[in-house]
Amino acid sequence: SICYLDGQYLPLAEARVSPLDRSFLFGDGAYEVIPVYSRRPFRLEEHIARLGNTLAALRLPDPHSAVQWADMVREVVARNAWEDQSVYLQVSRGADDKRNHAFPAVIRPTVFMMSDALLTPPAAQLDSGVAAVSAADFRWLRCDLKTVALLANCLLRQHAVEQGCAESILFRDGFLTEGAASNIFIVRDGVMLTPPKSHLMLPGITYDVVLELAARHGLPHEVREILEDEVRSADEIWMTSSTKEVLAITTLDGRPVGSGRPGPVGRQMHAWYQDFKNTVMRS
Ligand code: PLP
Repeated sequence: SICYLDGQYLPLAEARVSPLDRSFLFGDGAYEVIPVYSRRPFRLEEHIARLGNTLAALRLPDPHSAVQWADMVREVVARNAWEDQSVYLQVSRGADDKRNHAFPAVIRPTVFMMSDALLTPPAAQLDSGVAAVSAADFRWLRCDLKTVALLANCLLRQHAVEQGCAESILFRDGFLTEGAASNIFIVRDGVMLTPPKSHLMLPGITYDVVLELAARHGLPHEVREILEDEVRSADEIWMTSSTKEVLAITTLDGRPVGSGRPGPVGRQMHAWYQDFKNTVMRS
């Protein structure tokens, strides 16, 4: 596949970054994953705005304007073969001439983008849902930032995979935060619930779309703190992300969620999401 690195488009296998790059040494960088349907980036402005928020919090000057970013994303998409892609975009603080925790006075950010085929959940997974485990959310207190320092998320996802599960659902101080790489929604008595945005979770682009769709279609919903016990006794649990879209979680820690099958509200939300994607793609 073709990637972008510091001003050049080149085969991914030929891209090289310095070992002194601060993303390699410190995880000092921001990233985004942007889904592309029929060669159209989905919610591109929102992804670029979130990147801007992360960069500002990292005090890393944004090397490009929103218009430039959009052009670069479209160029990577055009240079790759797939109709549906997932574009990965990373800005690291760059390479210093030696290892030093504090920021160097002068440094040029390393900008990298690559793309892959977008693999949304297959029909069999949508039909049966996926399994999840619970885990203590031991991450730092800036989970609202989309940084490449993802070791905690990797450990938490691996924890799920080693138990034959697709995701870890994270709890902090008895409350739901999110998944290792997704946001979490539950349904209780026909009401969709999800935690409010805070420094304890990533403000998902898909999370926003799901809340917009709930409002548009008049689905009863509340954004509020959710107790661990409310998750464990929920009728439905879903995970949302740019690549998983809306995916039912049908077992938690080996116990069935509700009926043990994807529930009606989640199926409806998945259908609304597909419709919305398709109308945006055609516009
Ligand atoms: N939460 C975490 C920790 C994530 O890594 C992700 C991204 O995959 C999400 C939530 C979902 O965010 P989005 O819907 O913007 O993909």
